[in-house]
Amino acid sequence: MYYIFPVNNFSHEFKTPIVSIRGFAKLLKENQISEEDRQEYLDIIISESNRLAELSTNMLNLSKYEHTSIVTNTHAFRLDEQIRKAIVLMESKWSAKDISLGVDLEDIIYLGNEELTQQIWINLIDNAIKFSHIGGNIDISLLENDGQIIFTIKDEGLGMNEETKTRIFEKFYQSDPSHAKAGNGLGLALVKRIVNLCHGEILVESEIGLGSQFVVLLSSKA
Ligand code: ADP
Repeated sequence: MYYIFPVNNFSHEFKTPIVSIRGFAKLLKENQISEEDRQEYLDIIISESNRLAELSTNMLNLSKYEHTSIVTNTHAFRLDEQIRKAIVLMESKWSAKDISLGVDLEDIIYLGNEELTQQIWINLIDNAIKFSHIGGNIDISLLENDGQIIFTIKDEGLGMNEETKTRIFEKFYQSDPSHAKAGNGLGLALVKRIVNLCHGEILVESEIGLGSQFVVLLSSKA
C-alpha cells in the first residue's frame, strides 16, 4: 500500500475542522441562542470551511506534483514581475501587520512554468508575514550570478529552533500545531517539491527570536 501522506496527520487535519463544523452547525439548530452566539458560530463554520478548502487545494497540488517528474508548459517570463505581483497579492496581509518590505529585484527572465513558480513566492512570503512581529521588516531580493538565479526572503520574526529547521519541509509539520496561526503545514512541502521539479535548491537559515531567511536557487539556463 502506498500512502502519499502521513496517515495520522492527514486524518487529524481533516477531522478537526469537520468535527468543529458539525458541532457548531448542531448548536445553530437550537432555538435559544443569542444573535451574538449565532454570529460567532457562523464565523467559526466559515473559517473552518476555508481551512478545509485550502487544505484540499494544497493536498491535490502536492499529490499532482509528486506524480510529476518533468515541468511542462514552460515559457520565458519575467521572474521579477511575477514576484512583484505576488507581493501585491499579499498586500492585505502585510499591511494588516504594518510590516515594512524592502524589495530589490533585478530584471530576470526565467524559462519555466509560471503557475508552479508563483506558488514558491506566495508560500514563502505568506510564511514570512505570518511569523513576523507586528511592525516588522521583510527583505526580498532577486539577482542573477553566473547562471544562477538567487531569490532571498528574510524576516525578523519568530525564527525557528534546530528541530523545526530540520522538519519544516515535512508534510503537515508545524512547530506550533495549535493552529494559533493559519496554515496546514503543507506550504513548504509544496515549495520544496516545486523547487526540486525545477532542479533548484532551497536553503534555510534561522535563529529563534531573530528571524528566518529562505534562499531559492534556480538555474537561469533551465
Ligand atoms: P504552515 O505555514 O501552513 O504552518 P509550512 O509548511 O509553510 O506550513 O511551514 C511549516 C512550519 O515551518 C511552520 O508551521 C513554522 O513552524 C515553520 N516556518 C515556516 N516559515 C517560517 C518563518 N518564516 N519563520 C518561522 N517559522 C517558519
